[in-house]
Amino acid sequence: MKKHGYLFLAMFSSLMLAACAEQKSEEKEVITTTADQSDWSYEESTGPEHWGELHPSNLACVNGSEQSPINVEFPEVKADGNLKGNEIHYEPTPYTLENNGHTIQANATTESNHIIIEDNEYKLSQFHFHTPSEHQFNGQNYDMELHLVHSDKDGKLAVIGLMIQEGNENKQFASMWDELPTDKMAKGNSEKHIIDLQALLPENETTFQYAGSLTTPPCTEEVQWIVFEQPIEMSKAQIEAFQQIFPDNHRPVQPINEREINKSGE
Ligand SMILES: [Zn+2]
Repeated sequence: MKKHGYLFLAMFSSLMLAACAEQKSEEKEVITTTADQSDWSYEESTGPEHWGELHPSNLACVNGSEQSPINVEFPEVKADGNLKGNEIHYEPTPYTLENNGHTIQANATTESNHIIIEDNEYKLSQFHFHTPSEHQFNGQNYDMELHLVHSDKDGKLAVIGLMIQEGNENKQFASMWDELPTDKMAKGNSEKHIIDLQALLPENETTFQYAGSLTTPPCTEEVQWIVFEQPIEMSKAQIEAFQQIFPDNHRPVQPINEREINKSGE
């Protein structure tokens, strides 16, 4: 009887080991898949010059004609008197925070933030950061750029871009910056935090608007861009804290081609 008991124990534990091994290989597979989706970067052979070669779905990165970001040359901007300012409806917003390997991204956990462009409603889904800025004004980059990404009911995207320059500490970002997830693919534990997005916007409502794309693979076009002319501020320490995690995560400016940039909200 005792012998059988040992035999059973031996069989049972080898079964458990097999089960563990299987689980391990599944975990491995998940990690591989994630790595494949994020194998683009901002440097060398997987950097912006090569995004188009990395995956067939990235073709717009090389073949697109309306790519972002762009350099906004102020003398070439059209002041469109008919273009009314966009309605931005932001409020204090709870979010979760993640380091997705390319940027720090805050995912809004409510759908209450929205903007209206030409009577179409776009809801805020997430916002994230680049350094240095992706858009240029008259050939100059800012220290950082914030992108607030919205989508409408058909999945069409509208992104608000805010330039960030060194200055006073930005209090709206204080609690987020207290727990920036430094490790790639790490989730922050920030469900308890709330950011006041309305208070974040610059006083001057002048914006540049143009038709562009995602600035990361797959560089999908038909993205409505709204870039505020007035920058917001962050302290040197806040900017450096981000740059310690991502020293450079910006795509260089792309050709404007036939596009017009309109100015509104003055
Ligand atoms: Zn972005």
